[in-house]
Amino acid sequence: MSEKLFLLPGDGIGTEIMAEVVKLIDWLNAKGKTDFTYDSGLVGGCAYDVCGEAISEADMEKALAADAVIFGAVGGPKWDDVTYEQRPEAGLLRLRKDLQLFANLRPAICYPALADASALKRELVEGLDILIVRELTGGVYFGEPKEITDLGNGQKRAVDTQVYESYEIDRICRVAFDLARTRGKLVHSADKKNVMKSGVLWDEVAHQVAKDYTDVTFQHILADNCAMQLVRNPKQFDVIVTDNLFGDILSDAAAMLTGSLGMLPSASLGAPDAATGKRKALYEPVHGSAPDIAGKGVANPIAMVASFAMALRYSFNMVELADQVEAAIAGVLGDGLRSADIMQDGCRQVGTEEMGAAIIAKLDA
Ligand code: NAD
Repeated sequence: MSEKLFLLPGDGIGTEIMAEVVKLIDWLNAKGKTDFTYDSGLVGGCAYDVCGEAISEADMEKALAADAVIFGAVGGPKWDDVTYEQRPEAGLLRLRKDLQLFANLRPAICYPALADASALKRELVEGLDILIVRELTGGVYFGEPKEITDLGNGQKRAVDTQVYESYEIDRICRVAFDLARTRGKLVHSADKKNVMKSGVLWDEVAHQVAKDYTDVTFQHILADNCAMQLVRNPKQFDVIVTDNLFGDILSDAAAMLTGSLGMLPSASLGAPDAATGKRKALYEPVHGSAPDIAGKGVANPIAMVASFAMALRYSFNMVELADQVEAAIAGVLGDGLRSADIMQDGCRQVGTEEMGAAIIAKLDA
């Protein structure tokens, strides 16, 4: 049976980098390696221009019905004055909410050819392959009360509330442990149990879940120490599981170990369906719509292609194919091909289309 993809290229470079994924899907189908059907929709500013919302109800329905959503990027100066509810990012937030995507996966992989582009020394990052699993729908970004109160004496009081229930911690930890089983079999759970009640509960539940995964090594780490260790000795980690706030910060720090924004994929997963075991999922590059280079054909498509490789791995269990796509990316980088954002001395600069074509040619070789 064919698998259903829903493509949402979005704005700016989103359309350019998605075009390279479409070519890859067509190539995989033509080679008989996959049997994907795909449909495309509008999200972000381009959707607002057409229907006055950052995503239409019809496209939301298609996203809900798809086996995986492949998302480009949204936003741009054209929509800076659009109301808060209709702003381009609202489309992405709606997708995350309605698909109930609670687990955000952010790999930090250092391709050997780019080890010198990292802010850290080559020996610290070469061969780095870590995965940060961030809780995406709870915690301090959503907890109530969330308000600024005027105290009437010239002072104001701001409150954000960090709330987690044990089921939310349990399900994200299970995602982390399941993934660790397919990788280095090591999970670090990062919290601030030394100063936060939510951290105490987080650690309690994480330890409980760990009992079901005796084949995976489990370690607790304080989130501030985790930040320090990420820049001191990142290769000690395999999977790091943490809450929404710490995950936001730690995943950005880890990402920068590997070089450019144009290289970073991500996945957001929901709970497995009780009947089919399939998860709702959305795959997207970490970067935005890069209005400064949009339309110039110079955007790096690697984060987008690597996001699609994550879909192969996590939504369709096509592990070997995902490995091959990632190896093809490493291969073209090894051949010295570079988009402008990752250009290095002695390398050859290529545009979006040439990079996409080179990845397919590598797969074909
Ligand atoms: P950005 O990620 O779009 O760009 C930051 C810098 O990185 C720019 O100089 C850009 O040219 C460069 N860059 C990003 N991706 C690249 C790629 N694939 N290849 C080469 N260079 C790349 O962030 P920004 O400039 O802060 O935001 C631009 C717009 O994107 C804003 O409207 C913002 O709200 C939106 N945004 C969207 C998302 C998303 O869709 N998930 C994420 C972040 C920002």
